[in-house]
Amino acid sequence: MEEIKRINEEKKQLKGLTIKELKNFFFSIGEPSFRGEQVFNWMYNHLVTSFDEMGNIPKVLRQKLQDKSFMMTLELFDIKNSVSSKTRKYLFKTLDGFLVESVLIPDEERVTLCVSSQIGCPLDCKFCATGLMGYRKNLSSGEIFDQYLLAQKNSDQQITNIVYMGMGEPLLNFKETLRSIRIFAAEKNTNISLSKITVSTVGIPPKIKYLADSGLKVKLAFSLHSCFEDIRSSLIPLNKKYSLTTNLNFLDYYYKKTSRRITFEYLMLKDINDRQEDIEALIKLSKRIPSKINVIPFNSIKHMNPEGLSAELEPTSLYRIDEFVTTLRDNNVSVFVRNTQGDDIAAACGQLSFDGNVLTPLVNFTEEY
Ligand code: SAH
Repeated sequence: MEEIKRINEEKKQLKGLTIKELKNFFFSIGEPSFRGEQVFNWMYNHLVTSFDEMGNIPKVLRQKLQDKSFMMTLELFDIKNSVSSKTRKYLFKTLDGFLVESVLIPDEERVTLCVSSQIGCPLDCKFCATGLMGYRKNLSSGEIFDQYLLAQKNSDQQITNIVYMGMGEPLLNFKETLRSIRIFAAEKNTNISLSKITVSTVGIPPKIKYLADSGLKVKLAFSLHSCFEDIRSSLIPLNKKYSLTTNLNFLDYYYKKTSRRITFEYLMLKDINDRQEDIEALIKLSKRIPSKINVIPFNSIKHMNPEGLSAELEPTSLYRIDEFVTTLRDNNVSVFVRNTQGDDIAAACGQLSFDGNVLTPLVNFTEEY
């Protein structure tokens, strides 16, 4: 592995480069820039995994590319199929030895791939298994794209939607997330247009503004989980820095800029956010911001041996979820309930974490946010 890493550090990583950057790369190695366009097409539209598959690139140039660059940033490590649903979990290995998880979730109308943006996460949300694991590294746009490429190559269904809801906080890895979105949007052979991409965040207002101003118009999901500042702060420590009130102002701005309704993700936690006053607060909120509420049954994280508040969290009963949702709908709130799929392969939300990464050293997240 060290050997692979050393070689790749000396070579140029092509996956993740934009068309302009690829053209510059070809210029820098003394080749005409139109080769950049061709390679762009092979990598992102035809999803090739080797230079040898690039039919219109002469053999000598393919060899030169082999010597000077590389393009696969991940390798397939394992696939786990859920017995109870059609959900599949893909495990990939990065060139520096981390494991990345992506989850394929087919339903009637679409096939959604849930991609990771970081290995681990520094935000420490009390209900989330990835949070319990701590932060390891940001994924590059190439590593984000290759999750899609390898999942698509190893599936007989056409992936139609991408959600950034795997491991990590995409807005903390903003540059690479944005770059990967631009690459998905530039693809011609697939259905992944910007309207089929959802970025999910706990709420980092300066980045929400930047995303709104980027003109990309992806869908934005906000991990709400409580309409009350104190409760939200106890679940999501970042709420102490960026309050719900501040976030809501920026979500409002996001809607005004993009005309995309906000999705509020709402994890159902017994006696914490499933009370009558929570229903009332949600009704008020949905009148304020054009949105829909995605109610999510809480998946246990007990297998992670959590401590403190994390150890006390219990799922709301299915009966109460039903009652909760019905009352919201009776009040004209747009609500959908996420199926808990793939629980048996620990692929359900918040469970994307595993021994392979826990054993690697913790890293401080040092960037400003
Ligand atoms: N950091 C981003 C994206 C990753 S989490 C965010 O928080 O939005 C994606 C979704 O999984 C979020 O809505 C999150 O709240 C949800 N989730 C986290 N832990 C969960 C759990 N234990 N059970 C069910 N959903 C969970």
